[in-house]
Amino acid sequence: MARGFAVIPAPAEAPGTDEVIGIDRGVKITAALSDGRKLNCPQLTVKERAQVRKHPRRAARAPKGSEQKTAEYAKVARLKAREAGRRKDWCEKTSTMLARTYGLVRFEKLNIKNMTRSARGTAGQPGRQVKQKAGLNRAILAQGWGLLRQRTEYKAPGRVEDVPAPYTSLRCSACGWIDKNSRKSQAEFVCSFCGFTCNADTNAATNVAAGQGGIPRPRRSAGAGGMTTATSRSSIREPQPTRVGIPLF
Ligand SMILES: [Zn+2]
Repeated sequence: MARGFAVIPAPAEAPGTDEVIGIDRGVKITAALSDGRKLNCPQLTVKERAQVRKHPRRAARAPKGSEQKTAEYAKVARLKAREAGRRKDWCEKTSTMLARTYGLVRFEKLNIKNMTRSARGTAGQPGRQVKQKAGLNRAILAQGWGLLRQRTEYKAPGRVEDVPAPYTSLRCSACGWIDKNSRKSQAEFVCSFCGFTCNADTNAATNVAAGQGGIPRPRRSAGAGGMTTATSRSSIREPQPTRVGIPLF
């Protein structure tokens, strides 16, 4: 456990604005904001990660009960503590910024508990892909997703909301069209209906800011009349969104 690394401030005062910010949390980018900013939680450096692998090997080779063995294990523990400290510090700074800057902070709803639950299963029903899930669990925890939301809620009580996640990454934030083909790559979103082009993470965060994630919203018609009204919507043939599986993120 990391102790006393960051000074924990009291709840921040509301900024006196009703500006809404949406936050999409991911593995590549820790927090993509709907204003286009991309915030990354600092990780161990490549050199530090190499040390994390090196010292246990040296410890294993050291004679049993030797001073060297103890020292090698201590080095690993220090590196892990350093990583946890950086993560905690980043979450404190970022949550303070969010609480002070925005009237309402919307996170896409992640079931982190389910994602990080042990994949080992029970003796009678062993889990599958234990190793892969353990890797994902570590990645998720390392990103500090849960901590960021928790700290933001503490500093902005009543001003944090969760938006159902399933379609935030596939929905066009300009027209509401949901299609897995719009997600061209990890980074690129090009709407297959209206052609809106955007960074994929920013697009998802914009959907989160709008509170649009779980339920497909009727899109605007691109017909000659431009936007349609609610009363005329029923007469328009809406192309049906491609059926897609619910993505994990
Ligand atoms: Zn579109």
